[in-house]
Amino acid sequence: MTILVPMKDRYARQLSIPGFGPQAQERLSEASVAVVGVGGLGSPVCQYLAAAGVGRLILIDDQKVEPSNLNRQVIHFEEDALLPRYKVESARMKIEAFNSEVDVEALPMKLEEETAFILEKADLAVDCLDNPKGRYLLNRVCLDRRIPLVHGAVEGFSGHVLSVVPGGPCLRCAFPSLPNRWSGVPVLGAAAGVIGSMQAAETVKIITGIGDAPNGRALFIDLRSNQADEVVFARNPSCPDCGSLGP
Ligand SMILES: [Zn+2]
Repeated sequence: MTILVPMKDRYARQLSIPGFGPQAQERLSEASVAVVGVGGLGSPVCQYLAAAGVGRLILIDDQKVEPSNLNRQVIHFEEDALLPRYKVESARMKIEAFNSEVDVEALPMKLEEETAFILEKADLAVDCLDNPKGRYLLNRVCLDRRIPLVHGAVEGFSGHVLSVVPGGPCLRCAFPSLPNRWSGVPVLGAAAGVIGSMQAAETVKIITGIGDAPNGRALFIDLRSNQADEVVFARNPSCPDCGSLGP
């Protein structure tokens, strides 16, 4: 595909960030990131990772766009809901139009034990799911493959972000029982935008090695009160997911 936008112009305003530079850009362009769930969180994650120049995005979601998605899933448009189009296909079209340098693999399927192999090519996974079963499975797959996982969750005006890196506390160490949410959980679009943008920033930080290492720190944000709280989790030696793994 013809590249219309010169790379040095496209990324100029991040290349000039102190500590960033061409090496960080190179790492991003060589990275392969799986975005698991292309909804409220997955939308800004896809958009900002494509904007940053992540080389390859593997999109995993088995759902089609619905009208009730449009208040927060900003990568999908009205026509995607009317057709309806698979979310991964809708996102692939927008990403390719936005940054033709990004290689997008759209997988209209659910992450399950049998389909976990689809993460084989990923260097990092972003958890944009909305159900505990899928999140814990993704946690286990990332632990097995020893790749980082950037977890995010949103509800109403609030949400949280936690980056899981090999050797550190895993998702189940931090959240032994995530709530089983029903499909119609209320979410403000802007709240999903904030949390998803933070997941994208965490992903860029991990890939480039810029910024503080995650070290089990989760950030909880409540936009209703404009309050942010940091919680530091420790590894649980008897964690069913990571307890048997080495340091
Ligand atoms: Zn654990």
